[in-house]
Amino acid sequence: VPGEFELIRRFFERADRVTRLRLGIGDDCALLDAPAGETLAVSTDMLVEGRHFFPGTDPEAIGHKALAVNLSDLAAMGARPIAFTLALALPDADERWLEPFARGLFALADAHGCELAGGDTTRGPLNLCITVFGAVPPAGALRRDGAHAGDDLWVSGTLGAAALAVERRRRGESPPPGAAERLDRPQPRVALGLALRGLAGAAIDLSDGLAGDLAHVLARSATARGASLGATLEAGALPFAPELHGLPMEERIALATGGGDDYELAFAAPPERRGRSRRPVPRSGLH
Ligand code: ADP
Ligand code: MG
Repeated sequence: VPGEFELIRRFFERADRVTRLRLGIGDDCALLDAPAGETLAVSTDMLVEGRHFFPGTDPEAIGHKALAVNLSDLAAMGARPIAFTLALALPDADERWLEPFARGLFALADAHGCELAGGDTTRGPLNLCITVFGAVPPAGALRRDGAHAGDDLWVSGTLGAAALAVERRRRGESPPPGAAERLDRPQPRVALGLALRGLAGAAIDLSDGLAGDLAHVLARSATARGASLGATLEAGALPFAPELHGLPMEERIALATGGGDDYELAFAAPPERRGRSRRPVPRSGLH
């Protein structure tokens, strides 16, 4: 990309900000302090045009979503966000694309106190790769392998709206506004993830669909327990998104359990903790 350094300076360096990083953008590496008594949680997610978002998607939504899906992984681990890096391949250095992209990215980053620490910028087919760094006390991490026989299964929020939006757009129709919002601007459940420390035995964020994601928890937990493990999902207990109302039950179940992109958290907890599981965070803390 011509003017790569100018572009980074203009859109990604934020010299006017107070930083908590030891060293941010501009050197060969960023320097992060590992929080005392905590361990670093690290995760990477890539978004490819045509595969993870439709060509022509609002760049502001792409900026939001690229970070949101990464923060969702921190949430699912019970980790507090610290910083992220951004690797960007761009077809051209289009300012009309970069400006709204950076706006969407930093609005979410600032809301979670997560700072851009560095990255890489190159010319190529539109592709975004973010790595997030978070902090979690080692014993508080919400791993996938901590579910036990007899646990309750919980899901935050509602399911199926994002999958409905994907289905409608594939057919060339415009989805209900609420469903489009769920697909384009997922809200990572960071506050919920923190509140689930010491409550959930296992957790996962729902990126691929409840049925498939739950299978990961069951497989990992079964290996850890040395026993086989199954789960029962009752159709009547599924938290269908309001946008699904009016659809045939079969279709609602398919969207809520088989469709991805909801970025809610699913977690397992023993029945004794039902009271806490029902309302793990004060309403205001859920975002
Ligand atoms: P190097 O060649 O040593 O990897 P670069 O020229 O790629 O360095 O990057 C220069 C600086 O700009 C580095 O500190 C890097 O982290 C930062 N940087 C590059 N691209 C981005 C980006 N898209 N977002 C944030 N920081 C970036
Ligand atoms: Mg580089």
